[in-house]
Amino acid sequence: MPRIVMKFGGTSMAGIERIRHVAARVRREVEAGNQVAVVVSAMAGETDRLVQLCREAASLYDPREYDVVVASGEQVTSGLLAITLQGMGLNARSYMGWQLPIRASGHAAALIEGIDVEVLERVFDGGGIAVIPGFQGVTQDNALATLGRGGSDTSAVALAAAMKADRCDIYTDVDGVYTTDPRIVPRARKLDKVTYEERLELASVGAKVLQTRSVGLAMRYKLPLQVLSSFEDRPGTMIVGDEAIEEEIMERNVITGIAHDKNEAMVTLTGLPDNPGTVAAIFAPLAAANVNVDMIVQSVPRRGEPSVLTFTVPTAALAHSVAELEKVRDAIGFEEIVTETHVVKVSAVGVGMRSTAGIAAKMFETLADRNINILAITTSEIKVSVLIPEEYTELAVRVLHTAYGLDAEDGE
Ligand code: ADP
Ligand code: ASP
Ligand code: MG
Repeated sequence: MPRIVMKFGGTSMAGIERIRHVAARVRREVEAGNQVAVVVSAMAGETDRLVQLCREAASLYDPREYDVVVASGEQVTSGLLAITLQGMGLNARSYMGWQLPIRASGHAAALIEGIDVEVLERVFDGGGIAVIPGFQGVTQDNALATLGRGGSDTSAVALAAAMKADRCDIYTDVDGVYTTDPRIVPRARKLDKVTYEERLELASVGAKVLQTRSVGLAMRYKLPLQVLSSFEDRPGTMIVGDEAIEEEIMERNVITGIAHDKNEAMVTLTGLPDNPGTVAAIFAPLAAANVNVDMIVQSVPRRGEPSVLTFTVPTAALAHSVAELEKVRDAIGFEEIVTETHVVKVSAVGVGMRSTAGIAAKMFETLADRNINILAITTSEIKVSVLIPEEYTELAVRVLHTAYGLDAEDGE
């Protein structure tokens, strides 16, 4: 019997009416002869609300208790979906992360260590449907753990890999992966296929729909993954290996998509001494505090003169990062710490970049034509990212989408 994991995001679970609709989709897959595990998110907006409550309770809250609070949204929706499926006469039950268990390590952005499938095997043997809250696991000392924002995608893919599912279907509020966020660029085009690698880069630079780690996992296990609409019955986007697009690669655009990320903040340190080891002394405490530094720019006006170092960190880690830097300020001897949160990272991604020159230059020219100032730049083999002032987000995404030839034709 084919096995599938169906994952439903927050908008799809927002309210009883929508949960009924989700239940009908699940029933269809069960009636088609599939063994089904369903992974659900909290209702749209609920996790944000819970995070805000933690912040109000204390600015530097304990991550273990944060997990207890924020995991609750998924507990509610999994119970409600199980009740709804039972109401339709189906044999469904919810299984919390600790009941399977989904073993995880860490808090707030925990990693999945493994998933035991005995319970699920028994459910499937008995002809049942398992409803599982996304985003949560259990640590070795039996504490709740959550997997980082958007983590239900990772729960779904990890579960699909563990139970050797034939595919993992991610149902969301758009009907697939687009060349950019269709809510910002109405001329964004839906992609029939996108490679794991492209999707991985896109997710890592801010495109939503799939959490970065979920794509990495799907790639590792070669798991067929598709993104579909919860609301409309039409083909979605398949996430595939490079080999699946080999024949089409000539006709593909060099750039597959544009993404943006507002969750980075810029930190600038001025008056840095020009000594070996200065940069290491700055980043070591940040690494020790688990802060992910992303873009880095250093400018040294002249050898031996003080330099300026600019880098970005996740906005959520900014207060923490500044506190760590203050501790080493005297030892390193820099002047000022300047922070800026009203910035956005805009990125262009595509495997075609490997064999085409001038992609970055086109980005800089396009932004210059609109008088958009670039604050920092990073590149990889298949990606160019720039940091710009936040007020230009929509304009930058739109003009780059056009410049790279991604706009849909009329009626497309
Ligand atoms: P879910 O709640 O189902 O997990 P998310 O909010 O995580 O959904 O992701 C879906 C949203 O991602 C869409 O509503 C869309 O606005 C946004 N999005 C950003 N980039 C893209 C893209 N390239 N293709 C499709 N949707 C995108
Ligand atoms: N509810 C969690 C969040 O909003 C997890 C998820 O929906 O994927 O981040
Ligand atoms: Mg999501």
